[in-house]
Amino acid sequence: MEAAGNERLARGGAGMDLTTAAMRDVQAREAAATIPVYGQLPFLPERASGCELITADGRRILDLYGGHAVACLGYAHPGLVRAISQQSKRMLFQSNAVALEVRARAAEALVSVAPSSLTRAFFVNSGAEANENALRIACTGTGRRKILAVTHGFHGRTAAAAAVTWNAADSWYGFPMMPFEVDFIPRNDVDAAKRMIDRDVAAVIFEPVQGIAGAFGLSPDFVTALRRATRAEGALLIADEVQCGMGRSGQFFAVQVYGIEPDLLTTAKSLGGGIPCAALLATEYLASQQKPGDLGTTFGGGPLAAAAIVAVIDAIREDGLLDNVRQREAQIREHCNTGPVRGIRGMGLLLGLVCDRPATEVRAALLQRDILAGTSADPEVLRLMPPLVLTAGHVDRLAAALADIGPRT
Ligand code: PLP
Repeated sequence: MEAAGNERLARGGAGMDLTTAAMRDVQAREAAATIPVYGQLPFLPERASGCELITADGRRILDLYGGHAVACLGYAHPGLVRAISQQSKRMLFQSNAVALEVRARAAEALVSVAPSSLTRAFFVNSGAEANENALRIACTGTGRRKILAVTHGFHGRTAAAAAVTWNAADSWYGFPMMPFEVDFIPRNDVDAAKRMIDRDVAAVIFEPVQGIAGAFGLSPDFVTALRRATRAEGALLIADEVQCGMGRSGQFFAVQVYGIEPDLLTTAKSLGGGIPCAALLATEYLASQQKPGDLGTTFGGGPLAAAAIVAVIDAIREDGLLDNVRQREAQIREHCNTGPVRGIRGMGLLLGLVCDRPATEVRAALLQRDILAGTSADPEVLRLMPPLVLTAGHVDRLAAALADIGPRT
């Protein structure tokens, strides 16, 4: 089937025309009935299995993008499918107005894999919402009104999250006013970090590995300086692990690779393996400052999301996925620095392939070879954030495709 699909694609024959027509039809219907803000890729997946997206004409596209780093267990993982189907039959939803055994299990599982100082979870629905709550806890908890973020970082599209996102206000996703004072520490500038973090600062928010910036891992010295200076000045440190968390770094959380303990940590995307959910993790002290009613959400911590979180954490542990992430990273670094690639950066399975031409061109060439990768804010960096269940065979397939594309002539 795979060969047949590829052959049709190469020939551009009748099957290809029908598939293209179906894709154009669906894209036109979406564009007509939704607010058309997305540039969409030129294929129409019908179903997915393992690490592959399968189109109507049988193309099996190796998914190294994972639906924006969400599909951490790939597609149709038996443990995740079982957990959400059983939970949906038992009870699809109940709010936080009642205690739920599955929510308790999800919170226990999540704090058990988090840095040891983060003992409390608050469940929400998206990465931006988790960051929004973390920033609010920082401002109310310290009584200060200034937040520092790091240049090139991304934290989401709600008012507070966009305010701390690099370049958002001027050129991309600004609101008319900032909810607090914001300044940006130049990334990896240890001296600037020490100078800028003072007693006016409520918190510093940072992505240990900056995802949208093109899988840019902050230097250990810089991350350590952020931790030391915030602690010395009574400010909080917020690690945004929405993209790099939940096993993608080769540890459950990237701060564990850096060996630091933040005061607050946010996680989303891979957390539910595709069921939308997010969480804010906090220290015992910060949690104790919150009174009933201080935080809230309708859907956060719903039973379906909680069942998915438990299944994802179980699978990462039981399927040995942290080891797999480290092995696949090593394999990619060894074999994929070829063809258009002139350097590899990032951590675990959040990697940036630095290309010798615009990354959009390399992504198109890979897609012609049935491999999907992502781009990033850096025009030369192709972003890989595949399922953590990626196999050695998949990496071989990527290496062969890159070699086939070849260096720029
Ligand atoms: N933080 C980081 C590091 C992200 O990469 C993203 C999304 O890409 C967000 C926050 C926002 O998450 P969401 O889109 O779930 O609101």
